[in-house]
Amino acid sequence: MWLKVIFIGIVLVFVYRLFGGKVPFIDKPKEHNENEHDFGEVEATSACATCGTYITETDALIYQKKSYCSLFCLEESK
Ligand SMILES: [Zn+2]
Repeated sequence: MWLKVIFIGIVLVFVYRLFGGKVPFIDKPKEHNENEHDFGEVEATSACATCGTYITETDALIYQKKSYCSLFCLEESK
């Protein structure tokens, strides 16, 4: 009897989670707000000199002091 009740309970929790439900004691609440960033965490962005796409400085290709999003845009600028 109790085994059935527990089983049904587990199924209900599983279905609840399947539809995006949050179970507080399983899904620990996030300590940090996602919109808040620690100092230095936000990467500097720069616009591609050819197409204007914003890219992070780690992704940017730097050529003759200009940043490009891809080799294609770098070639286009020549
Ligand atoms: Zn580009």
